[in-house]
Amino acid sequence: MAFQDWMKQANLIGGDWVAADSGETIDVTNPATGDVIGTVPKGGKAEAERAIKAAVAAFPGYRDTSLMDRCALLWKLHDALMDNQKDLAELLTVEMGKPLAESMGEIAIGAQYVRWFAEEARRAKGEIVPAGVNGRRILVTKHAIGVVGMITPWNFPSSMLARKIAPALAVGCTVVAKPATATPYSGLAWGALAEEVGFPKGVVNVVTGSAKDISKAMMDSFDLRKITFTGSTEVGKELIRGSADTVKKVSMELGGNAPFVVFDDADLEKAVEGAMVSKFRNAGQTCVCANRMIVQSGIHDAFVKRLVERTEALKVGDGLEKGVEQGPMIDMDAVEKVEDFVADARDKGGAVVTGGARHDKGGTFFQPTVVTGATQAMKFATEEIFGPLAPVFKFETEEEAIEMANATVYGLACYAYTSDLGRAFRLNEGLQYGMIGINSGLITTVEAPFGGVKESGLGKEGGSQGLDDYLEVKYVCIDGI
Ligand code: ADP
Repeated sequence: MAFQDWMKQANLIGGDWVAADSGETIDVTNPATGDVIGTVPKGGKAEAERAIKAAVAAFPGYRDTSLMDRCALLWKLHDALMDNQKDLAELLTVEMGKPLAESMGEIAIGAQYVRWFAEEARRAKGEIVPAGVNGRRILVTKHAIGVVGMITPWNFPSSMLARKIAPALAVGCTVVAKPATATPYSGLAWGALAEEVGFPKGVVNVVTGSAKDISKAMMDSFDLRKITFTGSTEVGKELIRGSADTVKKVSMELGGNAPFVVFDDADLEKAVEGAMVSKFRNAGQTCVCANRMIVQSGIHDAFVKRLVERTEALKVGDGLEKGVEQGPMIDMDAVEKVEDFVADARDKGGAVVTGGARHDKGGTFFQPTVVTGATQAMKFATEEIFGPLAPVFKFETEEEAIEMANATVYGLACYAYTSDLGRAFRLNEGLQYGMIGINSGLITTVEAPFGGVKESGLGKEGGSQGLDDYLEVKYVCIDGI
């Protein structure tokens, strides 16, 4: 097998691989080379409606399969992902740009989510609750919510679907997935994998094309009972509004503006290590990437020195090349956005210590960048960078650090480095974030609930909580017998 074998250039609807009704297609480009690698159907309302219909038809039969039969399918799905890890990773790098090692990791964590939810589904327990009066029994049971619509972004085209598809399939839901237009193949590969391991027709449907038209069809459908989205806060808000008419359950993994706080008592090397992985992973294009380095004055200069040394040593290039640590950015818009952040910081007195411009490799490659003298007036203080730019802010006291960290509408991930246990607890209490990494810059793991507070989202992915998003709770009162 090769990655091309997983590169499906059609949509999966009701078990058939089909073109758009119009026959129209969208080109898919490799951001490292600018080459068109293939096309996918430009689907819209009609295709999405057919996919929803297929998922509705498949739902009762699939929901009523035994739990162990569903788990067995998920185990096979896990194995299929791992057996084809290298091909799927290459496909991911070719359409998205991230270094192959990161793509290998993404396929592996996706497989782990599949296994995790196959395990967790066996523990989706209900409750028998003591009633307040005699002769009455209160039962609480959990049930698959039904057809789930999934809209996912380009930055983790495979694992963002894993965290949605795995719990949905584990509890008996059926799926209509809409991958990002820039990176549709890793999403379509989930359809191919589901088909290969024997999920019934119509259980997993994948539609590509117009985000607006496909999501509108999802929003307008009463039969689609849940929408789960990962992407920008702006689009997430639209989808929350859109889901109101049919009162769908929503899960939203939205933007972030992660603070990375380093105290004087931190282990310098470990803090820099954590900063590098948190900032420059995926060329800074993750919603949990450190957006603001907030560093205490006593360690500030030493931290900046090491951070710059490590940043300058990063190997930039095509993600398929050996040893590359930072690939291209997804597109020119993303490059221009980072340029704008740099220009804004310069204008307001920031110092570009390293990088700050497009990379001489051309295309959408950008230099890993560090800016010092960052202030609250600069755009990145409140906006998500989504690129390889590390701004460094300075602070004096713990209270000040917490205040600076919380000064954003976002509340997804945050990080803090300290050796003071009491402070670690105070940070956990004071930081308004859904996820907190103390002395760790890489905290995503299948066992823990990933998700944000404030404008960063609703719901959790992973952990036992990640299953609840796909379940409805039913209460049964048995009285008088
Ligand atoms: P990002 O580009 O940061 O990943 P977006 O919110 O733009 O975030 O995109 C995430 C996903 O949402 C993609 O699949 C994209 O196609 C889809 N999308 C973009 N605009 C809309 C929209 N208006 N309605 C529904 N989905 C959208």
